[in-house]
Amino acid sequence: MSGSWHLGRFANIDVRVHWTFLLVPLWIYFSSLAAGSGVAGATISVLFVLSIFACVLFHEYGHALMARRFGIPTRDITILPIGGVASLERMPRRPAHELAIAVAGPAVNVVIAAAIFLGFAILDPTAGAVTSFLSRLALVNVALVVFNMLPAFPMDGGRVLRSILAMTMPYASATRIAANVGQVTAVGFGLLGLISGNLMLVFIAGFIFLAARGEAMLATAPVRYDVASEARSHVAPTSCRDEGSSDAVKARLLNHPGPNFPDVRSLPIISSQWNAKNALGWLGSNSLEKFLVSSGGSVVGMINKSDLQRVVREGRGAMAIERLLALRIIPMQSLRSA
Ligand SMILES: [Zn+2]
Repeated sequence: MSGSWHLGRFANIDVRVHWTFLLVPLWIYFSSLAAGSGVAGATISVLFVLSIFACVLFHEYGHALMARRFGIPTRDITILPIGGVASLERMPRRPAHELAIAVAGPAVNVVIAAAIFLGFAILDPTAGAVTSFLSRLALVNVALVVFNMLPAFPMDGGRVLRSILAMTMPYASATRIAANVGQVTAVGFGLLGLISGNLMLVFIAGFIFLAARGEAMLATAPVRYDVASEARSHVAPTSCRDEGSSDAVKARLLNHPGPNFPDVRSLPIISSQWNAKNALGWLGSNSLEKFLVSSGGSVVGMINKSDLQRVVREGRGAMAIERLLALRIIPMQSLRSA
């Protein structure tokens, strides 16, 4: 992400922090001073906010390390003022994997909160600044779990819902339903925010609504999104945001305009790492005869649906498209000849 600094590398994943994040401790410090907290109080407030972001970072590591179990690398984790983003190199291909990856983030916050509560139960500490600090941190972790697990699509809970639905129906339908549930949830949030006069809640609701609408449009558009990156992110302490990978796909397509670019743009995209059978299943009843193939984040060419069908008929459906192309079992057309 541009405008971010490299903070370090842990478990082979680069951690970056966006420069705007600096505004958070500054804002907390000076607003605490303005509220009459004194220098000590303001410093504790800053430490508290930094601790919350550490929990958000651990949450992102939960997603990233679970994704790694399924062979999905994470490009980096970026800390933003609104939370964190773990940029996964690609989408999980199986609903069960998506489910596990989505749950792994909030699970980290459950563990943190449980560890603090358990520590209190065992050590029975006296009331004081440290106890208060830790109990508030535990409650923030509980809040992180609750908000992230709401079934509003761009949040983890929406992904959980989509992956469970996708076990029994086509992926696009599952996404559409999850996105609709997300929009309904967002409207509920918005109303709650308006009634309670909480503008932050209204803002978050608007954000979720637009993100969910983006996902719903994505699910109905012919451009499917596996391709290069899936970014997931979390607003601390209350919500989640997603960077639409469809936009990334379209941006890349814009860098590869063929002579018939407008036609090409409307074609579905599949990953070269998929096998022929999965690719056909993904395309479903799509009536289009050609589609684009992506590799390493770029669209590399175009293949015919009929070629994939032939490969499956010949019993080679389990072969990766990459390999089918390399062995010249199926021809690839360049975008120039589209
Ligand atoms: Zn998450």
